[in-house]
Amino acid sequence: MKIYLNNQLVESDEAKVSVYDHGLLYGDGIFEGIRLYDSCIFKLEEHLERLEYSAKAIMLNLPWTRKEIAEAVCETCRANDLTDGYIRLVVTRGVGSLGLSIKNCDQPQLIIIADTIQLYPQEFYENGLKIITVPTRRCNAAALPPTVKSLNYLNNILAKIEAQHLGYHEAIMLNDQGYVAECTGDNIFVIHKGELITPASSAGALKGITRSTALSIADELGITWREATLTRYDIWVADELFLTGTAAEIIPIVEVDARPIGSGKPGLITAKFLERFRKLVCKDGTML
Ligand code: PMP
Repeated sequence: MKIYLNNQLVESDEAKVSVYDHGLLYGDGIFEGIRLYDSCIFKLEEHLERLEYSAKAIMLNLPWTRKEIAEAVCETCRANDLTDGYIRLVVTRGVGSLGLSIKNCDQPQLIIIADTIQLYPQEFYENGLKIITVPTRRCNAAALPPTVKSLNYLNNILAKIEAQHLGYHEAIMLNDQGYVAECTGDNIFVIHKGELITPASSAGALKGITRSTALSIADELGITWREATLTRYDIWVADELFLTGTAAEIIPIVEVDARPIGSGKPGLITAKFLERFRKLVCKDGTML
């Protein structure tokens, strides 16, 4: 497996970063998770735009153009003979001295890993996933905007640990006001009386690329959608529920906090979204 590091491709066992890299020392950096479907990189431009926005938000000057990063992503996939997989694009603040100051970090590092990905087992797409709400709240936007896809994922990791301790794969995170924000690695959507509803990013949700794809699919299917403040009650009484994410794609939820959602089986509208999404992924992207 070849890894893109410091402007070159190296074997994975030689792909090493300094212990003084602030990405490692402080989680000071940003990343993207991107999918490759049938030699086509899904929504690459959108991912690179979000990376640029994350960089801007944390005042990290990217020394590469969008075109250079795109080319490096393609090159890494080609070097690994990959046609389908998951691309992890990481930018760290780079090597600096001990201490939080970024003054000595003069060279950000670009790391690209292109590998296969383990999705949820197929049975979850067919039978749906059961999830719970966990106590750990989503980071307050005034502390660290959840829209920044930063290398500091401890907030989400704590929630994931809580879910897994209780035997669940995914969990709903509320924001500090107690409204639904998102899941630990996915956005959440409610279908209620034929309408699609999702929390706004201001409620603590990442602006997911799959989330915006789902909203476009809603437009295509003629389903009205809106962003709204959602409580746990709104989730419990939903007719259908699904999650979106680059790795998960679109996954039906059939139970939340021990309450069955709708009929307790994956919903028909959700199935339409998943079907449409699967058709889209090979078309809407950048060819290697
Ligand atoms: N929320 C969080 C916290 C995430 O980490 C992710 C990405 N795994 C998402 C939502 C979904 O975003 P995307 O569709 O861009 O993968």
